[in-house]
Amino acid sequence: MKTILVAGAGHGGLSAAINLARKGYDVTVIEKQKREEMGYDWEDAIELSAFDFAEIERPDESIYIKSHHMAYMSPNGQHVLKMPYDKGIGKRVHMERKGLTKHMFAQAEKAGVKLVFETEILAPVIERNAVKGMKIKDGDNEAILRSDLLIDAAGLTSPIRTHLPSSFGIVRQFEERNIFNAYRVYFDNTDGTITDPPYNVTFFHMNKPGISWTITDEKFVDIIVGKFQMKGKLTMDEVNASIDDFRSRYPYIGNKILRGGEKIESIPISRMISKIVHNGYAAVGDSAGMTIPLSGSGLVLSIMAGKYLADCVLGIGDGEFTEKSLWPYEYNYFQEQGKNYLMLDAFKNFFTYVEAKDIDYILKKKILTEQQFSVADGEPLVLPLKQIIHIVLNGLPVIEIFPHLIGALAVVPALPVILKTMPKEYDEKKFKKWEKFYLSL
Ligand SMILES: Cc1cc2nc3c(=O)[nH]c(=O)nc-3n(C[C@H](O)[C@H](O)[C@H](O)COP(=O)(O)OP(=O)(O)OC[C@H]3O[C@@H](n4cnc5c(N)ncnc54)[C@H](O)[C@@H]3O)c2cc1C
Repeated sequence: MKTILVAGAGHGGLSAAINLARKGYDVTVIEKQKREEMGYDWEDAIELSAFDFAEIERPDESIYIKSHHMAYMSPNGQHVLKMPYDKGIGKRVHMERKGLTKHMFAQAEKAGVKLVFETEILAPVIERNAVKGMKIKDGDNEAILRSDLLIDAAGLTSPIRTHLPSSFGIVRQFEERNIFNAYRVYFDNTDGTITDPPYNVTFFHMNKPGISWTITDEKFVDIIVGKFQMKGKLTMDEVNASIDDFRSRYPYIGNKILRGGEKIESIPISRMISKIVHNGYAAVGDSAGMTIPLSGSGLVLSIMAGKYLADCVLGIGDGEFTEKSLWPYEYNYFQEQGKNYLMLDAFKNFFTYVEAKDIDYILKKKILTEQQFSVADGEPLVLPLKQIIHIVLNGLPVIEIFPHLIGALAVVPALPVILKTMPKEYDEKKFKKWEKFYLSL
């Protein structure tokens, strides 16, 4: 029987593991954290349809609530884009992360997945141009676990992906512009006031490149202060300045920390990396850059990607796990899901070039509108000629950033070409040609 190891108990790895163990595969997940400490002490936005897609039971209703109405705000707070509720944010729920993690573990064990906690992975085992397993820490010694397929679900700093030989052609370190830092905290709500809308995402809050948000509930205010790492790591002085400003805007934010109060520096904000498979190896979730590029949300994409991967593995049957046989996983994921985030990734890259005053101008002049930001919800991007002309004419006065704006919009005509030229079957030469184009955007 084929042996499948999953590095890290990431959501995409668990999703693939569940689907494979159900079909009789021998699947073991190796995770460094203690089981009871897994997950964060907060809620995350997620779509329940991801579970249906991955054929995983939906979590119990007691661990989530419907997402709130949401708006994007300019840095100066004067320009607000209220997002349509019916198709985007309204499809989501806010789910307890610890509850979600518990649910995924229960589903995995029910399917027959072996979960091994408190075991640190050190590096992959490489033999003859293939991944053959992983080195783990076993007390004071190292041990080797062998696999036919190693699924890398160990996140941005995965000890597997970061130690692959460069000849595999897989990105080992994410560029700074693809990494986000965030501080998350829940304060008490002193008088139960709820803002309209309750969920506000501010671009470049306090001139910090990145996004920050507040979500008000009768009992608490959930705050994220976020910054693109490309512009320097998020400092506690910046966090405190943002929180002070939110307090002056929303005086009902109390001083009592109810949950969170944690800074996380390793959040990918990236489109899918260009190559996620090799002989004996497949990356999934954050490790493969499967996130919504502006916010770093990756739960839905990773859970869905796990199903694409499992389907591909089932299709391989008794065959070997090679770059070629695993390619349909990458191809299908990208053609059906990954493509939706190219435009947003281009916006994100654009945002790393601009300043707060430029964003104020862009939202004031409606150069970017609700429709463009709806691509964060997987909505297709349609840019009628009239709007392109509007963008070009109104973008011209911001002369320093105009070329970057046009560069970001170049993704729109390039997208159909990217999809069409991606080789359906793996061929190194054709792949390299496609990759060059993909990376040029
Ligand atoms: C503050 C914050 C807020 C977020 N909010 C949202 C949200 O609202 N909605 C959303 O969709 N997403 C959100 N995300 C992103 C989301 O957490 C990830 O995209 C999602 O978990 C998919 O990542 P993953 O499962 O691939 O990897 P991860 O969640 O990073 O899991 C990787 C696992 O690998 C383990 N691991 C790493 N190294 C080793 C090692 N050496 N040995 C053994 N195990 C190892 C880690 O302990 C971890 O359990 C948020 C992330 C953060 C940090």
